[in-house]
Amino acid sequence: MATITLKGLAHSYQAKPEAPQDYAIQALDHVWQQGGAYALLGPSGCGKSTLLNIISGLLTPSEGQVLFDEKVVNDLSPEQRNIAQVFQFPVVYDAMTVAENLAFPLKNIKMPKGQIQQKVQEIAELLELTDSLHKKAQNLSADQKQKVSMARGLVREDVSAILFDEPLTVIDPNLKWKLRRKLKQIHEQLNITMLYVTHDQLEAATFADEIALMYQGKIVQFGTPQELFERPNHTFVGYFIGSPGMNFIPVEKHQSGVSYQNINIPINAQQQLALQNSRSSNLKLGIRPEFVALSDTASPHSFAATLESVEHLGSYQLVSVVFAGLKMQVRVSEKMQFKGQELHLSFPSQWLKLYIDEYLVAEPAPQAQGHNHE
Ligand code: ADP
Ligand code: MG
Repeated sequence: MATITLKGLAHSYQAKPEAPQDYAIQALDHVWQQGGAYALLGPSGCGKSTLLNIISGLLTPSEGQVLFDEKVVNDLSPEQRNIAQVFQFPVVYDAMTVAENLAFPLKNIKMPKGQIQQKVQEIAELLELTDSLHKKAQNLSADQKQKVSMARGLVREDVSAILFDEPLTVIDPNLKWKLRRKLKQIHEQLNITMLYVTHDQLEAATFADEIALMYQGKIVQFGTPQELFERPNHTFVGYFIGSPGMNFIPVEKHQSGVSYQNINIPINAQQQLALQNSRSSNLKLGIRPEFVALSDTASPHSFAATLESVEHLGSYQLVSVVFAGLKMQVRVSEKMQFKGQELHLSFPSQWLKLYIDEYLVAEPAPQAQGHNHE
């Protein structure tokens, strides 16, 4: 078990990297606390597997250090780091039975035979593999094989950390849901640092207490699912988290605030101050579809918009509106009815975020959570 610290980490697959885009991982500092359940979330190609392989020791970083509990492990192999890693596709010994596959990591650490048997039974039960224990791995279906892979990752309790790299990719949707919850349960029992890589926000939020959102080789935000939803600190977080993602209004600076198509949109005093201190013209307002207020009557602070389409999605409706030529999404209750095309939008101040050069500005720091992010 270990706290894992990444210091000034960078990695390029090129021999002579020059520009930032030559790096798969860019100048990254982060701490994964001992015992945490973390997700590493981001789109394909953002560097998740690269980062995971650097932590496990399969890959040597071009720059920076990996520390396990204060000790630099850059030169240690995955075995020496004592890491269990589960990959996207099954890694099993086809010629062995399921029981032998599960026993393998335990034999390697010379666990006594009786104990091995007991542990294999236990983990097989947990992952519902008991009926297959005597079967040759080669005769299993792809998702059974992947369960064996996962069981092999989970069978040892003495590891520093368990790393999962999109482990549910080949698993069918029903089983996926079940395994996700199961992993969470296992984490609660074992108190082992677990790092779970996925591109699926739902999967990340079910498994993890905290999510590191990656974009172009950087962790752009680290926080609880709620923090990422309510306070995206980069436009990419706003866009990637939520369904659909945050609405963005490209705005221009004017004397007392910002405007879009010559329509003034009020912002708060803190946001105005940040704006005054910046010379950037890359300004965006962001607001989540859940927080836009929609009405068929005008109010002093509302903006005219036209209805484009309504999608009924069970417990809510997703409404597309056009505001001064800009398409926006609004999530409203299933009860709301639409009579005409004319609608009125308003943007509650607490949910209207200002982004300068894609980064959130002028927000009070989030409430202390009793742990340190950096
Ligand atoms: P993810 O797991 O988030 O999909 P990866 O870590 O696999 O992302 O990849 C990050 C970037 O590094 C991508 O641009 C990818 O093309 C590149 N990359 C990954 N593996 C290699 C490799 N072995 N050689 C060269 N480039 C690689
Ligand atoms: Mg990957």
